[in-house]
Amino acid sequence: MTLLDARPEAPKPAPPPQPGRLVDLFEYGLDSPICLTWELTYACNLSCVHCLSSSGRRDPRELSTEECKAVIDELERMQVFYVNIGGGEPTVRSDFWELVDYATAHKVGVKFSTNGVKITPEVAQKLAGSDYVDVQISLDGATAEVNDYVRGPGSYATAMRAMQNMKDAGFTGFKISVVCTRQNIPQLDEFKAIADEYGAQLRLTRLRPSGRGADVWDELHPLPEQQRELYDWLVAHGEGVLTGDSFFHLSAYGSALPGLNLCGAGRVVCLIDPIGDVYACPFAIHDEFLAGNVRSEGGFQEVWRNSELFTRLRTPQSGGACTSCSFFDTCKGGCMAAKFFTGLPLDGPDPECVRGFGEEALEKRKMDGSIPKPDGDHSHSTVRGPRRDGRPIATGLITTKKRGIPITLSLTRPDRPPVSACEENPLAGFTPN
Ligand code: SF4
Ligand code: SF4
Repeated sequence: MTLLDARPEAPKPAPPPQPGRLVDLFEYGLDSPICLTWELTYACNLSCVHCLSSSGRRDPRELSTEECKAVIDELERMQVFYVNIGGGEPTVRSDFWELVDYATAHKVGVKFSTNGVKITPEVAQKLAGSDYVDVQISLDGATAEVNDYVRGPGSYATAMRAMQNMKDAGFTGFKISVVCTRQNIPQLDEFKAIADEYGAQLRLTRLRPSGRGADVWDELHPLPEQQRELYDWLVAHGEGVLTGDSFFHLSAYGSALPGLNLCGAGRVVCLIDPIGDVYACPFAIHDEFLAGNVRSEGGFQEVWRNSELFTRLRTPQSGGACTSCSFFDTCKGGCMAAKFFTGLPLDGPDPECVRGFGEEALEKRKMDGSIPKPDGDHSHSTVRGPRRDGRPIATGLITTKKRGIPITLSLTRPDRPPVSACEENPLAGFTPN
């Protein structure tokens, strides 16, 4: 029996929702995903400590160029507007630009996430000339000191060089993607200033305990008071800062934030991984959330429309203890992946529940080794992971410019990027029938 099976029996499929809020419509799923992440490769030049897909080494079973093109053909037939391409570092695939060109020629827009390693002046020029390609550069510290502690030495300089090349090429509005951590929350204003300086748009995403992020979540995830600081900052910046579905659990502090205010896993969100496996969400790489493979009969469309897992996720879900919470309508119990990989029940509060119920649940959870581990580890074999004995690999002391508060970092290691999550505006271009 799986954890999903263990949920209370779901009622028979409800009648289709009546026209009204899009969010209600999305709960029942759509014929095509509006937030499809496709990780083209597990290969990466970096080894970020929080990599959601534990990337580093290429998987020899990776989809071939022709198989990727067949998937794109299917996406075109399904009228998928765009795809978030990530990895790994997708640009290290030798056929990367060929696939981007193929997708845009077939009316599938591309936004790709990169650590910037291949964004040369020439590439930036080419990108600036396309209306159908967007670029998201990962940056997890507004200073080299903060960034490189999680992403690896030199990664800040690489990202900044890529941004300069984009700016010089006249590509405005590219995205700077920041995974929010305990160490960089005090730098929110600085991130915004960097985005403004380069003509980019800031995108903040939530750190989930997925992939290698599971090993460092306790040390990196924002403190409760920082969650509040983040919420207030997001409210102050409104739609000018993108967040996708990252922070709907924070809506319990007040009003709902812009973005997708529900867990869209298997309903409007999914992941195709480098070997063609289809998961409910990029942050849920685990057998529990594996719906099928694009190589199987019927391809991606069959998995998306008819897999048993996605069908189940599109039936009304139990909110468990959260249903009695007055914030349930907007918070909805938070992120399924965050709960799963911290060993919390899927029908209970998020581990970062702003009312503190998640912390209580974390205290009570069994530490008997039953907490699920992410599937697949593609980490570079030459790079040691965070120590499982709990001792830090190394320490550093960072003094934030904003408040002068010393923050002790207990991590160091050469590293790699987080990958795209949900589109910053998942509703862009979507018109319900
Ligand atoms: S599991 Fe979390 S990250 Fe994935 S779609 Fe749901 S809320 Fe988003
Ligand atoms: S109790 Fe549940 S619904 Fe209420 S704020 Fe916490 S996670 Fe959200």
